[in-house]
Amino acid sequence: MIFPFVKRARAYVVFTLEYLLGLSTYGDYHGFDIYKYKRIRDELIKGKKLKRRFLCDPHPCSREDILLVHTEEYLRRIKDPVYVNQLLKIQMNSMWDSSVLEYFKAVTGGTMFATALSLKNGTAAFNLGGGFHHAHRDRGEGFCLINDLAIAIEKFRRKRKFSKALIIDLDYHQGNGNASIYKDDPDVFTLSIHAEQWETLEGVAMKDVLVDSAIGDEDYLDVVRENLEWLEGRFTPEMVFYIAGSDPYEKDELADMKISREAMLRRNMMVYDFVKGKKLPLVVVPGGGYGKDSWHIYADFISRVLSR
Ligand SMILES: [Zn+2]
Repeated sequence: MIFPFVKRARAYVVFTLEYLLGLSTYGDYHGFDIYKYKRIRDELIKGKKLKRRFLCDPHPCSREDILLVHTEEYLRRIKDPVYVNQLLKIQMNSMWDSSVLEYFKAVTGGTMFATALSLKNGTAAFNLGGGFHHAHRDRGEGFCLINDLAIAIEKFRRKRKFSKALIIDLDYHQGNGNASIYKDDPDVFTLSIHAEQWETLEGVAMKDVLVDSAIGDEDYLDVVRENLEWLEGRFTPEMVFYIAGSDPYEKDELADMKISREAMLRRNMMVYDFVKGKKLPLVVVPGGGYGKDSWHIYADFISRVLSR
């Protein structure tokens, strides 16, 4: 991976148009707006919140990067578009089209690049894609083919850029892939607060918090605050990864939580301030979020951070 010189910014945003190419081959996926991340980029540039030089263009991750987390056998299987089609339950235009895997490699390269930027500058870096938190070492599920965050963690942990990382996952769905990979690794702690649990997992380096999907704004924010406080003294990270899932938003078209746009911003800023208060590098990925209004949540968050 090449790291171009980038002038120091309050926060960096990572995006490439390749994030759109893979998705466009299969059309609608549970109402996922494939232009969501381009809309966010356009809004930030148009509103003069983001200077173009702080918008960074990543390279796709390599085969070797994927193998830092996933098995050889699994990687061999996901090179077969027919298998990927069945795994993700998608209808591709062509059974010979490998662009879905290319999409995951592009976005994972973005999460790795965001990690490099964040570590180099000690600040926040937002990838406009990623947070494939259901991907396990040897299987994918829930439209998560490879685990971008785990690949970024392994890449930079091996370079000895940090040894202890915290994953804060506030997506509507349980971060079961991350927890399954790291639940017994005392150096990578996963805190997942969600309304939909996919599997029962237990380990020394994870905490699952299941909330009622009918929970209101203030109670939801209290749960997030209490669990961030719970981490104090229990786990001391050198690096934080935040999956800022937008699917708890009341206008989400897949999930059924009722969190307002304003409370979503408060939630995201609470996590941002928690990490900033500790002066730690922070990588943010968007995770889930479905429907035509979803993009506003992540755009609000980045916009607020850049405006400070
Ligand atoms: Zn989700």
